[in-house]
Amino acid sequence: MEKPALEWTSIYEGKAKILFETGDRDTLVQRFKNDATAFNALKKGSIPNKGAINCQLSAHLFTLLESQDIRTHFVDRLSPIDMKVRRLKMVGLEVVMRNRVAGSLVKRLGQPEGTPLAHPILEWYYKRDDLGDPMVNRDHIDILHLATDDVIATIEKMARRINGILLPYFSGKGILLVDMKFEFGTDDSGAVFLGDEISGDTCRFWDAQTHDKMDKDRFRQDLGKIEENYLALFRRVTQHEPEL
Ligand code: ADP
Ligand code: UDP
Repeated sequence: MEKPALEWTSIYEGKAKILFETGDRDTLVQRFKNDATAFNALKKGSIPNKGAINCQLSAHLFTLLESQDIRTHFVDRLSPIDMKVRRLKMVGLEVVMRNRVAGSLVKRLGQPEGTPLAHPILEWYYKRDDLGDPMVNRDHIDILHLATDDVIATIEKMARRINGILLPYFSGKGILLVDMKFEFGTDDSGAVFLGDEISGDTCRFWDAQTHDKMDKDRFRQDLGKIEENYLALFRRVTQHEPEL
C-alpha cells in the first residue's frame, strides 16, 4: 500500500478506511482499504483491489450526485485509493434506503429476499459498534441529541432524492439497487453533506436479469469471486477500467 505524503497525519482508522489530516482545516483525505469486515467485525478478510475500486466508484457516484445538486463531501481524487473530502462533523447515524427486501429486512418482515417494496423504505441506525448499530426512530434520535429536527428532515429528504437518482441510474446499467447505507455530516455553517462512501461495501447491487450478487454479500455469504464481481460492477457502471 502506498505511503501517505510525509505531512499527512492519520487521525482515525476504521474498518474500511483511514482518515488523514493534511494541514488544511477544511479537508481530510479518506483512504480506502482492502480490508473487509461483516457481522459487526466478527468476520474479517481482505479483498484484493477493493480499496481502489470502492474509492473510484464512490468518486464516480459522488460526481454524478453533485451534478444533480446533491451536496457531497467529495472534493478530488488524489490516488487510486485516496480522495480529498470536505471535513464534516458526522451525524452518528446510518441511514438505510431500501427498494427490495434483503439482509436484516428478511428477518424483520418475514418476507423472502428480493420481494419488491411498494415504495422505498428509510431506516435509521445508531452508529455504535459496541451496541451492534441498533435501529432507532425519530424519538430515540431526539432523546440522544444526535441531530436537530431540521438536520434530520434535510437528511431524510436528501436520502430519498439520492435513491431517486441512483435507482434509475443503476437500472440503466442493468443493475438492481436493492438497498444502500448513507452517512451524513455538517460543515461549520451547519449545511448537510453526504459523506463516507457509496460502493459495493455499502450497497446491495444485483444483476437485473439474473439477480446475481455483485456486492459485499459475496463476502458475507462466502459466495466466492468477490474481486471479480466488484470489478465487473465497476466496469458496468463507469464503462472504464479502474486504476489499480
Ligand atoms: P467505521 O468507522 O464504521 O469502521 P470506516 O472504516 O469506513 O468506518 O471509517 C470512515 C470513518 O470516517 C467513518 O467513521 C465515517 O463516519 C467517517 N467519515 C466519513 N466521511 C467523513 C468526513 N467527510 N469527515 C469526517 N469523517 C468522515
Ligand atoms: N450496511 C452498511 N453498513 C452497516 C450496515 C448495513 O453499509 O453497518 C448496508 C448493507 O451493505 C446494505 C444496507 O446497508 O446495503 C442494509 O443492510 P441491512 O440492514 O440489511 O444489514 P446487514 O444485512 O448488512 O446486516
